[in-house]
Amino acid sequence: MSTVLEQSLGRSAVTELKHVGDKLAEKLAKLGIHSIQDLLFHLPLRYQDRTRITPIGALRPNVDVVIEGEIMLADVVFGKRRSLAVRLQDGTGTITLRFYHFSGAQKNNLKKGARIRCYGEVRRGRAGLELYHPEYQFVEDLAALPTEDTLTPIYPSTEGLTQARWRQLMTQVLMLLKKGRAIDDLIPAPLLAPYGLPDLRSALLYLHQPPVGANLEELENSQHPTQKRLIMEELLAHNLSLLKMRETIQQDRAPVLPPAEKLKAPFLNALPFSPTNAQQRVVNEIQQDLSKGIPMLRLVQGDVGSGKTLVAALAALSALEQGYQVALMAPTEILAEQHFKNFQSWFEPLGISMAWLAGKVKGKARQAALEVIANGEAQLVIGTHALFQEEVAFANLGLAIIDEQHRFGVHQRLALKQKGKGLSPHQLIMTATPIPRTLAMSAYADLDTSIIDELPPGRTPVNTVAIDQQRRDQIIERIRNACLSGRQAYWVCTLIEESEALEAQAAEVTAQELKEALPELNIALVHGRLKPQEKADIMADFKAGNTHLLVATTVIEVGVDVPNASLMIIENPERLGLAQLHQLRGRVGRGTAESHCVLMYQTPLSQAGKLRIQAMRDTTDGFKIAEIDLEIRGPGEVLGTRQTGLMQMRIADLQRDGYLLDDIKRWAEMCQQQAPHIVQLLIDRWLGENIRYGQV
Ligand code: ADP
Ligand code: MG
Repeated sequence: MSTVLEQSLGRSAVTELKHVGDKLAEKLAKLGIHSIQDLLFHLPLRYQDRTRITPIGALRPNVDVVIEGEIMLADVVFGKRRSLAVRLQDGTGTITLRFYHFSGAQKNNLKKGARIRCYGEVRRGRAGLELYHPEYQFVEDLAALPTEDTLTPIYPSTEGLTQARWRQLMTQVLMLLKKGRAIDDLIPAPLLAPYGLPDLRSALLYLHQPPVGANLEELENSQHPTQKRLIMEELLAHNLSLLKMRETIQQDRAPVLPPAEKLKAPFLNALPFSPTNAQQRVVNEIQQDLSKGIPMLRLVQGDVGSGKTLVAALAALSALEQGYQVALMAPTEILAEQHFKNFQSWFEPLGISMAWLAGKVKGKARQAALEVIANGEAQLVIGTHALFQEEVAFANLGLAIIDEQHRFGVHQRLALKQKGKGLSPHQLIMTATPIPRTLAMSAYADLDTSIIDELPPGRTPVNTVAIDQQRRDQIIERIRNACLSGRQAYWVCTLIEESEALEAQAAEVTAQELKEALPELNIALVHGRLKPQEKADIMADFKAGNTHLLVATTVIEVGVDVPNASLMIIENPERLGLAQLHQLRGRVGRGTAESHCVLMYQTPLSQAGKLRIQAMRDTTDGFKIAEIDLEIRGPGEVLGTRQTGLMQMRIADLQRDGYLLDDIKRWAEMCQQQAPHIVQLLIDRWLGENIRYGQV
């Protein structure tokens, strides 16, 4: 008997339950539910209060209620749509139950004189208050039928699994728990004690069956102590999984890379400027990591234009000087190309050979690139994520630099491990958009962070204005004046749909319109559908000052660097997210001329649209913008890393619960040191199969 009780629910398959056969088990497996414990962690989305019966006379619209009474009449009515209307009374009032879909049996059973209890939402209908398709049951003696004695949970579900089925399953599971079957309470009691939070068993029992009188509002806002108990556990599990990944990577050896004595001086001497203090500090932090022989995992955050590329270049030199290869990956081809040009001008004078690889490099060119990467002839390889595909073998990759990281997933980070041939490459990750501290702490718990908190000297803050589309003519005039006085401008076209083809088409139309309106200017068009060489030529022309106005789609969002461009028009900025707008605006304000950004919006603006435009006008500080963005959109969107699996939390919400992260970090450290045996158990419980990389 005791052995049964001790058998942890974490190791009991769902099929151990009554009425759970292979078919149901399969359905549950699709939701990641394999063990009985998994079922317990399948928490209700929300609750209904079926514990009280509301007198019909007291009903108000838009409230979920339980009512009961006697049927006065039932009729099939023919209106716009045929329906079965059942009139119910309880002595305090009457109400109509309406069924648009009904069976013959239903029609026969719902007859005058029958007594029923119903649950549903009260709505205003054709005949006053109505309940549409309520759940109902027949009762002989209304007074004798007990009401629910707990709140009724509503579970996240999947096709073919009704709420009734879920409740039935959970009732069985909770019964086991009540009988004393073991569930591993993984969080050490001393950690929980200061918070006054309940133990796991009580928390789960409560959340699956909150008692009468439980505070629904508190529960719905995830503010109940039982929820906090689970939220903290989930955050801890996520944090631990990232730390574990870091550990996995750092178990490997990495090349020892001392500072580049020979290459650094000639490189810096050839630069027209010297590094800022912030750049210098971050380079030192990186250099410390590189000299240790353990794979570096470092995230460099810096606002647009803070000079992350120079930091990357200095890190690259350390690897190159020791004879290791460096890979630099950017998320878009335009950005990768720009890096390629930039590094060419910086590094080729130093005798460093480079290779280029992107998805669009095909055939012989691809073969040739793959060959020089594999035999080590190419010392610096620049490209898009094509760089880290399986077929790309490096001779001796020492450092991987990932620019604008938030578009890449955690898995790619791990895949890099395999590219180093014995030694794992160091990883330097640079983000385009600053990440709010709370997010960075949990989303990048596996990375050390450096922040470039200073812009190079001589920058003038961009002046941002918002103008209604109706004043388009005035804006065109403004471009004319700016360009004729020697400045350059961007006109950015945006589209709601994420279709490169449609976007390109819209940009073509705009370019044509502007060419007609501004015949005296050189106007060029760049979009994602152009061939790489065409794009490169257009960008080069613009950079050389041959083009006055560049009409572009959001392809210029990241990284493009043309200091003489000092005016940017963003058409329909309300269609873009804040991070994207901030990135775009970062294309101007890079030189000494005073720069302007015109947000040319279309009325009416949505509330979120207004907030975004307001934020853009109020500040140019990327960290502030990131915080506001997080408030408006929530963390999954801000990070753009849904695919990492990280944001798919079950009960925690990084924004709402961000204030807990300092504590979680401490918990994670204590677990690692004092209770290492629970680490994997927690990860399995909360991340389950989402987190294969834990075992790499
Ligand atoms: P981001 O951080 O957005 O990637 P970049 O690396 O593209 O910024 O740098 C933006 C611009 O600032 C480039 O033109 C670059 O040459 C210039 N720059 C970088 N560092 C300095 C510096 N220390 N002093 C002056 N200009 C700099
Ligand atoms: Mg950059």
